[in-house]
Amino acid sequence: MNSRIYYTKPSVTDLEVRYATDAATDGWGENCYAYIDRFEKEFASHLGVRHAISTSSCTGALHMGMAALGIGRGDEVILADSNWIATAAPIFHLGAQPVFVDILSESWCLDPHLVEKAITPRTKAIVAVHLYGNLCEMDELLSIGAKHGVPVIEDAAEAIGSIYRGRRAGSMGNFGTFSFHGTKTITTGEGGMFVTNDPELYDRMLTLSNHGRDRNEAKQFWPEKIGFKYKMSNIQAAVGCAQLERVDHLVNRKREIFQYYRDQVSEIPGGLTNPEPEGTRIGAWMPSAVFPDESGITRERLLAAFHADNIDARVFFWPLSSLPFFKAKPENIFAYGIPGRAINLPSYHDMTVEDLGRVASCLRKVYSSVRGSA
Ligand SMILES: *Cc1c(COP(=O)(O)O)cnc(C)c1O
Repeated sequence: MNSRIYYTKPSVTDLEVRYATDAATDGWGENCYAYIDRFEKEFASHLGVRHAISTSSCTGALHMGMAALGIGRGDEVILADSNWIATAAPIFHLGAQPVFVDILSESWCLDPHLVEKAITPRTKAIVAVHLYGNLCEMDELLSIGAKHGVPVIEDAAEAIGSIYRGRRAGSMGNFGTFSFHGTKTITTGEGGMFVTNDPELYDRMLTLSNHGRDRNEAKQFWPEKIGFKYKMSNIQAAVGCAQLERVDHLVNRKREIFQYYRDQVSEIPGGLTNPEPEGTRIGAWMPSAVFPDESGITRERLLAAFHADNIDARVFFWPLSSLPFFKAKPENIFAYGIPGRAINLPSYHDMTVEDLGRVASCLRKVYSSVRGSA
């Protein structure tokens, strides 16, 4: 049996171990926020934003950020149907309604035209999710938001290293969020980040994220409102500081792997990988391949071939509206159509040339088998 090829796996070096050891040894008492403060400051500077607040997860950052925007019962939040549940769950927990619109066939992200059509007097936010590190049409979405007075949130959990017309993903909306889950390009085990350029929103978030305590409140143990507790630990932040020092290296390796797959997939007629339109550069968190309907290449054939070679490839996200607790929206034809002829390809930092070759040969095998049976 060939050795297992995982679909993601963090790259952890002596630097991460050294910082984590230091935090575990000395990061207490007066040093108990040292790595947290440093990670937030350096992350904000990397992204080119004014403020950053570290969190226990991206889900937590979204939950608090949406609460800070005042999203609540009866409100509507527009987002793409193709996504992981993490973006929709906080909307639900706040008593609001997720409104799922279709994606564009090329970018696999929100179709701005459908976003504008979905706006109602109850719309309280648009969430631009940069799926797999691809970039949403931010200029269009921001101008729709401005025109209707609706905030635009960027879920950039998958998009560190992605740049849209000179601006980093996560830095363009009213606020942005990131994930440092173990599967993401930079990791703290579990963890997330909230970023914003809006000083008032930042202030509200600081209070909310500290169990509702205002940082200027002199009285001890005195919350002014019910808040949240989604904090990152100093030890996690130490790992994050080390990962952030290596972020360009980590993103560049993702891009190398992506470019290798792009070349391979382009040899299959109609095969597409993550798009990188003029004026953008993607962080390529999750290189993926989508094949045309008429190719006969299906998710099931791809999964079977990868499974047979002990390669862990993942399915393209199911449409959220197809999950049992939501109302199906099959009119979202791309969100419903693409997953059946798509696959996420393995892309962890330490993949070898042989590993990449095995993945490419799996794709070729599937292609020649459907050609043979046609
Ligand atoms: C990973 C991910 C999240 C959730 O991140 P956590 O840190 O696990 O909460 C949210 N949105 C998207 C698009 C993700 O990929």
